[in-house]
Amino acid sequence: MKSWDAIVVGAGIIGLALALELNKQGLKVLVVEKGEPGREASWAAGGMLCDFPGETQPPLQELATASARMYAEFVRELEDESGVKIDLRSVGTIILSRLEPGLKAALRRYAVPQPLAELEPGLRVQDSNALFVDEGCVDPRQLTAAAIAAARHRGIDFSCGDDVLAVEVADGKACGVRTGKAQIAAGMVVNCAGAWAGQIGPHRFPTRPVKGHMLCVAMPENEVVRHVVRTPDVYLIPRSDGRMVIGATVEEAGFDKRTLPETIQKLRRAAVGLVPGLADARVLETWTGLRPGTPDGLPILGATATRGSFVATGHFRDGILLAPATARVMGQVMTAKKPQIDLSNFSAGRFGD
Ligand SMILES: Cc1cc2nc3c(=O)[nH]c(=O)nc-3n(C[C@H](O)[C@H](O)[C@H](O)COP(=O)(O)OP(=O)(O)OC[C@H]3O[C@@H](n4cnc5c(N)ncnc54)[C@H](O)[C@@H]3O)c2cc1C
Repeated sequence: MKSWDAIVVGAGIIGLALALELNKQGLKVLVVEKGEPGREASWAAGGMLCDFPGETQPPLQELATASARMYAEFVRELEDESGVKIDLRSVGTIILSRLEPGLKAALRRYAVPQPLAELEPGLRVQDSNALFVDEGCVDPRQLTAAAIAAARHRGIDFSCGDDVLAVEVADGKACGVRTGKAQIAAGMVVNCAGAWAGQIGPHRFPTRPVKGHMLCVAMPENEVVRHVVRTPDVYLIPRSDGRMVIGATVEEAGFDKRTLPETIQKLRRAAVGLVPGLADARVLETWTGLRPGTPDGLPILGATATRGSFVATGHFRDGILLAPATARVMGQVMTAKKPQIDLSNFSAGRFGD
């Protein structure tokens, strides 16, 4: 029977980035995906690479900043290995938020460098509380497509259309996975199943789906907005090809992925309220996705109580940003090296499993 050094469960951006990292460490890797690779949260995401301290949970800051710094190289390598062009933009983000006075003083260094009307003339709101953050954004679908192509190019195996039901354990150690159709042997298994990670035995990680609605419009001919713009109600992410992604709701709706027209309309109205030039923008696409949420909003990363069984999930709203650093540190953990970032805040054990 064919066997692998490591099985990665789930071909979202987290599983794909980790599969590539393990392959670089010389491991023979199989990715097992229940559907089509890269078609769940990683396909639905906006792609903001947000490591802004005003919006990042403090325990996540180090991982977020490390990942943001790795991004340009991560993208360059994926482009080289896949031949897929990835739209990575670094024009910066304007944040329009209702800041507490204390926080506003602490974030003074993020003040907008020039009048907002000059920086982004298309905005209706000319808010004195605006902040400017030097963060990038990426097209997550291109990123994921490139990661899949790079993985295939490197000889990583894929098994698609088969749900992993459980990690197989023998003598207290993981020895593969059981799917609906087969048992597959491997020396190590890592659960990267996103919002579904909690459905795979024997460890029932407390992940839950957090739904987000999104839409994409064609920007009118003149680039109505150049920067990413974030408010508490809506965000706008311009792409280099003239599309603009508008998102996103944060909903507790279980695994229901239906796209509701009234929710899309609400997002669209909020976007037009912010940028009147979008009023006639043609809607190109609407969709939803399921973020992998956890009880404390932090990812679950590292070894589990079963030897040879690992987990990398729960990246909630930041999985696109966190993919390169997650892959790096999980690669270190799985090859018995000391991770360069302390993962104790993210341990599976914090939930008692
Ligand atoms: C609307 C929306 C907007 C977002 N915007 C951003 C953003 O701007 N920036 C950012 O950084 N992040 C953003 N995110 C979050 C980001 O998309 C996620 O954190 C990230 O994609 C999680 O990646 P993943 O690989 O863990 O999960 P997924 O991409 O969901 O991949 C998990 C994979 O596991 C597979 N799977 C599940 N169960 C099994 C099983 N039993 N057997 C085999 N395979 C299985 C699934 O089919 C899926 O392919 C957004 C998410 C959404 C929904």
